[in-house]
Amino acid sequence: MKKADVVTFFDRLATAMPEPKGELDYVNPYTLLVAVALSAQATDVSVNKATGPLFKTVTTPEAMLELGESRLKDHIKTIGLYNSKAKNVIALSQILIAEHGGEVPRDRDALEKLPGVGRKTANVVLNIAFGEPTIAVDTHIFRVGNRTGLAPGKTPLAVELKLEKVVPADRRLHAHHWLILHGRYVCKARSPDCPACVVHDLCAFKGKTTLEGPPAGKKPAAKKTVKKKATAKKSAAAGKPAARAKTRRKAG
Ligand code: SF4
Repeated sequence: MKKADVVTFFDRLATAMPEPKGELDYVNPYTLLVAVALSAQATDVSVNKATGPLFKTVTTPEAMLELGESRLKDHIKTIGLYNSKAKNVIALSQILIAEHGGEVPRDRDALEKLPGVGRKTANVVLNIAFGEPTIAVDTHIFRVGNRTGLAPGKTPLAVELKLEKVVPADRRLHAHHWLILHGRYVCKARSPDCPACVVHDLCAFKGKTTLEGPPAGKKPAAKKTVKKKATAKKSAAAGKPAARAKTRRKAG
Protein backbone atom coordinates (compact mmCIF):
# COMPACT_ATOMS: atom_id res chain seq x y z
CA MET A 1 0.00 0.00 0.00
CA LYS A 2 1.33 3.44 -0.89
CA LYS A 3 2.45 5.70 1.94
CA ALA A 4 -0.27 8.28 1.24
CA ASP A 5 -2.90 5.53 1.24
CA VAL A 6 -1.67 4.25 4.62
CA VAL A 7 -2.13 7.76 6.02
CA THR A 8 -5.65 7.90 4.58
CA PHE A 9 -6.35 4.38 5.87
CA PHE A 10 -5.67 5.41 9.47
CA ASP A 11 -7.34 8.81 9.05
CA ARG A 12 -10.53 6.98 8.09
CA LEU A 13 -10.33 4.49 10.99
CA ALA A 14 -9.62 7.36 13.38
CA THR A 15 -12.68 9.23 12.13
CA ALA A 16 -14.86 6.14 12.45
CA MET A 17 -13.50 5.27 15.92
CA PRO A 18 -12.16 8.43 17.59
CA GLU A 19 -11.56 6.75 20.94
CA PRO A 20 -10.79 3.10 20.30
CA LYS A 21 -10.59 0.91 23.37
CA GLY A 22 -9.89 -2.70 24.15
CA GLU A 23 -12.83 -4.77 25.31
CA LEU A 24 -11.26 -6.58 28.26
CA ASP A 25 -12.25 -5.29 31.69
CA TYR A 26 -9.49 -4.46 34.19
CA VAL A 27 -8.82 -2.07 37.04
CA ASN A 28 -5.02 -1.75 37.05
CA PRO A 29 -1.96 -3.08 35.16
CA TYR A 30 -1.99 -6.32 37.15
CA THR A 31 -5.60 -7.16 36.40
CA LEU A 32 -4.99 -6.19 32.76
CA LEU A 33 -2.10 -8.64 32.61
CA VAL A 34 -4.25 -11.39 34.15
CA ALA A 35 -7.17 -10.65 31.82
CA VAL A 36 -4.97 -10.74 28.72
CA ALA A 37 -3.32 -13.98 29.87
CA LEU A 38 -6.78 -15.51 30.37
CA SER A 39 -7.98 -14.34 26.97
CA ALA A 40 -5.76 -16.65 24.90
CA GLN A 41 -8.10 -18.68 22.69
CA ALA A 42 -11.13 -17.24 24.49
CA THR A 43 -13.45 -14.35 23.77
CA ASP A 44 -13.18 -11.07 25.66
CA VAL A 45 -16.83 -11.48 26.67
CA SER A 46 -16.19 -14.85 28.31
CA VAL A 47 -13.13 -13.48 30.13
CA ASN A 48 -15.05 -10.44 31.38
CA LYS A 49 -17.83 -12.66 32.74
CA ALA A 50 -15.31 -14.56 34.83
CA THR A 51 -13.11 -11.66 35.89
CA GLY A 52 -16.00 -9.34 36.85
CA PRO A 53 -16.56 -11.06 40.23
CA LEU A 54 -12.86 -12.01 40.55
CA PHE A 55 -11.53 -8.45 40.21
CA LYS A 56 -13.99 -7.18 42.83
CA THR A 57 -11.78 -8.70 45.49
CA VAL A 58 -8.53 -9.67 43.75
CA THR A 59 -6.55 -6.81 42.21
CA THR A 60 -2.97 -7.56 43.31
CA PRO A 61 -0.56 -10.50 43.07
CA GLU A 62 -0.67 -10.82 46.85
CA ALA A 63 -4.46 -11.14 46.86
CA MET A 64 -4.24 -13.69 44.05
CA LEU A 65 -1.87 -15.88 46.07
CA GLU A 66 -4.17 -15.56 49.04
CA LEU A 67 -7.07 -16.70 46.87
CA GLY A 68 -5.06 -19.72 45.74
CA GLU A 69 -5.09 -21.86 42.62
CA SER A 70 -8.10 -23.95 43.52
CA ARG A 71 -10.44 -21.00 44.16
CA LEU A 72 -9.04 -19.19 41.12
CA LYS A 73 -10.03 -22.19 39.03
CA ASP A 74 -13.57 -21.92 40.35
CA HIS A 75 -13.68 -18.31 39.15
CA ILE A 76 -12.35 -18.99 35.68
CA LYS A 77 -13.66 -22.48 34.93
CA THR A 78 -15.91 -21.15 32.15
CA ILE A 79 -12.82 -20.08 30.19
CA GLY A 80 -11.04 -22.56 27.92
CA LEU A 81 -7.75 -24.03 29.20
CA TYR A 82 -8.57 -22.74 32.69
CA ASN A 83 -6.41 -25.32 34.45
CA SER A 84 -3.15 -24.25 32.83
CA LYS A 85 -4.18 -20.59 32.88
CA ALA A 86 -4.80 -20.74 36.65
CA LYS A 87 -1.38 -22.29 37.19
CA ASN A 88 0.24 -19.55 35.08
CA VAL A 89 -1.58 -16.74 36.89
CA ILE A 90 -0.48 -18.07 40.27
CA ALA A 91 3.10 -18.55 39.03
CA LEU A 92 3.33 -15.10 37.43
CA SER A 93 1.92 -13.54 40.60
CA GLN A 94 4.69 -15.22 42.62
CA ILE A 95 7.33 -13.87 40.22
CA LEU A 96 5.88 -10.35 40.29
CA ILE A 97 6.16 -10.36 44.09
CA ALA A 98 9.61 -12.00 44.20
CA GLU A 99 11.25 -10.03 41.39
CA HIS A 100 9.27 -6.87 40.69
CA GLY A 101 8.03 -5.66 44.06
CA GLY A 102 4.50 -6.82 43.25
CA GLU A 103 4.30 -4.50 40.23
CA VAL A 104 3.88 -5.25 36.54
CA PRO A 105 7.21 -4.42 34.86
CA ARG A 106 7.25 -1.90 32.02
CA ASP A 107 9.72 -4.03 30.13
CA ARG A 108 9.14 -6.44 27.27
CA ASP A 109 11.79 -8.98 28.24
CA ALA A 110 10.64 -9.11 31.85
CA LEU A 111 7.02 -9.48 30.77
CA GLU A 112 7.82 -12.26 28.30
CA LYS A 113 9.61 -14.19 31.04
CA LEU A 114 6.36 -14.50 32.99
CA PRO A 115 4.53 -17.84 32.63
CA GLY A 116 1.82 -17.72 29.98
CA VAL A 117 2.94 -14.32 28.70
CA GLY A 118 4.09 -14.15 25.08
CA ARG A 119 4.95 -11.29 22.77
CA LYS A 120 1.31 -10.50 22.01
CA THR A 121 0.31 -10.27 25.70
CA ALA A 122 3.40 -8.19 26.47
CA ASN A 123 2.52 -5.81 23.63
CA VAL A 124 -1.06 -5.40 24.86
CA VAL A 125 0.11 -4.63 28.42
CA LEU A 126 2.80 -2.21 27.23
CA ASN A 127 0.30 -0.44 25.00
CA ILE A 128 -2.71 -0.21 27.29
CA ALA A 129 -1.16 -0.03 30.75
CA PHE A 130 1.91 2.04 29.87
CA GLY A 131 0.98 3.92 26.70
CA GLU A 132 3.77 2.39 24.61
CA PRO A 133 3.15 2.46 20.83
CA THR A 134 3.27 -1.33 20.48
CA ILE A 135 1.11 -3.33 18.10
CA ALA A 136 -0.07 -6.71 19.36
CA VAL A 137 -0.83 -8.83 16.31
CA ASP A 138 -3.74 -11.14 17.02
CA THR A 139 -5.79 -13.10 14.52
CA HIS A 140 -7.78 -9.99 13.49
CA ILE A 141 -4.76 -7.78 12.88
CA PHE A 142 -2.99 -10.60 11.05
CA ARG A 143 -5.97 -10.96 8.72
CA VAL A 144 -6.51 -7.23 8.13
CA GLY A 145 -2.80 -6.60 7.57
CA ASN A 146 -2.63 -9.31 4.93
CA ARG A 147 -5.98 -8.81 3.24
CA THR A 148 -5.70 -5.10 2.75
CA GLY A 149 -2.07 -5.10 1.69
CA LEU A 150 -1.28 -2.77 4.60
CA ALA A 151 1.23 -5.15 6.21
CA PRO A 152 1.53 -8.49 4.47
CA GLY A 153 3.46 -11.17 6.34
CA LYS A 154 3.51 -14.90 6.87
CA THR A 155 3.76 -14.75 10.65
CA PRO A 156 2.31 -12.44 13.33
CA LEU A 157 5.83 -11.16 14.01
CA ALA A 158 6.37 -10.32 10.33
CA VAL A 159 3.07 -8.40 10.27
CA GLU A 160 3.97 -6.61 13.51
CA LEU A 161 7.37 -5.51 12.19
CA LYS A 162 5.84 -4.37 8.92
CA LEU A 163 3.17 -2.38 10.76
CA GLU A 164 5.85 -0.73 12.87
CA LYS A 165 7.44 0.45 9.66
CA VAL A 166 4.37 1.71 7.83
CA VAL A 167 1.99 3.06 10.49
CA PRO A 168 2.39 6.85 10.78
CA ALA A 169 4.01 7.81 14.09
CA ASP A 170 1.00 9.79 15.28
CA ARG A 171 -1.26 6.77 14.71
CA ARG A 172 0.98 4.14 16.33
CA LEU A 173 -0.51 4.27 19.83
CA HIS A 174 -4.06 3.44 18.74
CA ALA A 175 -3.25 1.40 15.61
CA HIS A 176 -3.57 -1.81 17.57
CA HIS A 177 -7.15 -1.08 18.68
CA TRP A 178 -8.28 0.36 15.36
CA LEU A 179 -7.10 -2.70 13.48
CA ILE A 180 -8.54 -5.19 15.99
CA LEU A 181 -11.94 -3.50 16.07
CA HIS A 182 -11.97 -3.16 12.29
CA GLY A 183 -11.15 -6.87 11.95
CA ARG A 184 -13.62 -7.94 14.61
CA TYR A 185 -16.64 -5.96 13.42
CA VAL A 186 -16.12 -5.08 9.75
CA CYS A 187 -13.33 -7.07 8.09
CA LYS A 188 -14.58 -10.31 9.62
CA ALA A 189 -12.92 -13.62 8.81
CA ARG A 190 -15.77 -15.35 7.00
CA SER A 191 -17.87 -12.53 5.66
CA PRO A 192 -16.15 -9.16 5.59
CA ASP A 193 -18.66 -6.33 5.52
CA CYS A 194 -16.96 -4.61 2.60
CA PRO A 195 -19.89 -2.39 1.59
CA ALA A 196 -19.78 -0.79 5.06
CA CYS A 197 -15.99 -0.54 5.09
CA VAL A 198 -14.45 2.93 5.32
CA VAL A 199 -11.23 1.77 3.65
CA HIS A 200 -12.92 -0.14 0.83
CA ASP A 201 -11.25 1.85 -1.95
CA LEU A 202 -7.79 1.43 -0.37
CA CYS A 203 -8.06 -2.31 0.26
CA ALA A 204 -6.21 -4.68 -2.05
CA PHE A 205 -8.19 -7.80 -1.09
CA LYS A 206 -9.20 -9.59 -4.30
CA GLY A 207 -12.25 -11.12 -2.63
CA LYS A 208 -13.66 -7.87 -1.32
CA THR A 209 -17.36 -7.52 -2.03
CA THR A 210 -19.29 -4.66 -3.53
CA LEU A 211 -22.56 -3.27 -2.24
CA GLU A 212 -24.32 -5.98 -4.22
CA GLY A 213 -22.46 -8.83 -2.57
CA PRO A 214 -20.25 -10.75 -5.03
CA PRO A 215 -16.48 -10.32 -4.99
CA ALA A 216 -15.34 -7.29 -6.92
CA GLY A 217 -14.21 -8.26 -10.38
CA LYS A 218 -16.28 -11.44 -10.57
CA LYS A 219 -19.24 -9.65 -12.04
CA PRO A 220 -19.43 -6.32 -13.86
CA ALA A 221 -20.78 -3.73 -11.46
CA ALA A 222 -24.36 -2.75 -12.21
CA LYS A 223 -25.13 0.95 -12.53
CA LYS A 224 -26.80 0.93 -9.12
CA THR A 225 -23.69 -0.63 -7.52
CA VAL A 226 -21.37 1.93 -9.04
CA LYS A 227 -23.59 4.75 -7.86
CA LYS A 228 -23.81 3.40 -4.29
CA LYS A 229 -20.11 2.64 -4.16
CA ALA A 230 -19.33 6.14 -5.32
CA THR A 231 -21.56 7.49 -2.54
CA ALA A 232 -19.79 5.29 0.01
CA LYS A 233 -16.42 6.55 -1.18
CA LYS A 234 -17.65 10.13 -1.00
CA SER A 235 -18.89 9.62 2.56
CA ALA A 236 -15.65 7.99 3.60
CA ALA A 237 -13.63 10.75 2.01
CA ALA A 238 -15.74 13.25 3.94
CA GLY A 239 -14.85 11.40 7.12
CA LYS A 240 -18.31 9.95 7.67
CA PRO A 241 -18.12 6.55 9.37
CA ALA A 242 -19.91 3.66 7.73
CA ALA A 243 -23.06 2.32 9.33
CA ARG A 244 -21.27 -0.61 10.99
CA ALA A 245 -18.50 1.58 12.28
CA LYS A 246 -21.08 3.92 13.78
CA THR A 247 -22.54 1.02 15.74
CA ARG A 248 -19.12 0.15 17.13
CA ARG A 249 -18.41 3.67 18.20
CA LYS A 250 -21.62 3.74 20.21
CA ALA A 251 -20.76 0.45 21.87
CA GLY A 252 -17.18 1.53 22.55
S1 SF4 B 1 -12.90 -3.83 1.84
FE1 SF4 B 1 -13.54 -5.76 2.78
S2 SF4 B 1 -11.71 -7.03 2.82
FE2 SF4 B 1 -11.03 -4.89 2.53
S3 SF4 B 1 -10.63 -4.09 4.60
FE3 SF4 B 1 -12.73 -3.57 4.07
S4 SF4 B 1 -13.96 -5.23 4.93
FE4 SF4 B 1 -11.82 -5.96 4.80
